[in-house]
Amino acid sequence: ESQDAARTLLSYAERVAGALRESEDDLGKLDSVAGDGDHGRGMTKGSLAAVAALREAVTQGAGVASALADAGDAWGDKAGGTSGALWGAALRAAAGTLDDEVAPTADAVADAVQAGLDELLAFGKAHVGDKTMLDALVPFVESLRTRLDAGDGAADAWHVAAGVATQKAADTASLTPQIGRARPLAERSLGYADPGATSLALVVATVAAEAGE
Ligand code: ADP
Ligand code: MG
Ligand code: MG
Repeated sequence: ESQDAARTLLSYAERVAGALRESEDDLGKLDSVAGDGDHGRGMTKGSLAAVAALREAVTQGAGVASALADAGDAWGDKAGGTSGALWGAALRAAAGTLDDEVAPTADAVADAVQAGLDELLAFGKAHVGDKTMLDALVPFVESLRTRLDAGDGAADAWHVAAGVATQKAADTASLTPQIGRARPLAERSLGYADPGATSLALVVATVAAEAGE
């Protein structure tokens, strides 16, 4: 049944790659406000590479842990940019908590997302408020855990947490970047949401929509 979870993951990843592709230009424009404009392209390339890796893993009968680890490797290899390296490392760290024999419970999914966040914090050395994807991911993880602890099912909890991430990503418009490529032109970015937080919210919201069907 870990193989079933890998197939489910592939179907989510296909939707996520499609959503990122549709938002590629918007994410690129957001990144060109104070950054170098490549964020949309990077997220599309990374997610498409992850889909290809997941498809291959599923074809070979891999469990969800191995499949996600392959997806993380592919994303990190192909996406480029700071966010690509961070997404690749986070997905690999999340995979490291999963199992190739047993399908993950809702709690195990939350633990995997937490492990991805921990890796981002350790590797990227940013903090909440620095205007990065962390400003969407940290509240997402907190909300997911709170809703699961309150007894929500996985899809409901993910849906609520994705709503929080979407709001928090929008709220980054009032921040100025304290880290990364956008920092030198930080003032320009006032009034515009962080590209990495925006794409992260899009990813979790797309999964929420797919999981709710
Ligand atoms: P690059 O800045 O190398 O061109 P991208 O444009 O793909 O890479 O990604 C930029 C996004 O990466 C930012 O909007 C921010 O959300 C995220 N980011 C940058 N540095 C960090 C960091 N140290 N920790 C977490 N996220 C970061
Ligand atoms: Mg960029
Ligand atoms: Mg770049």
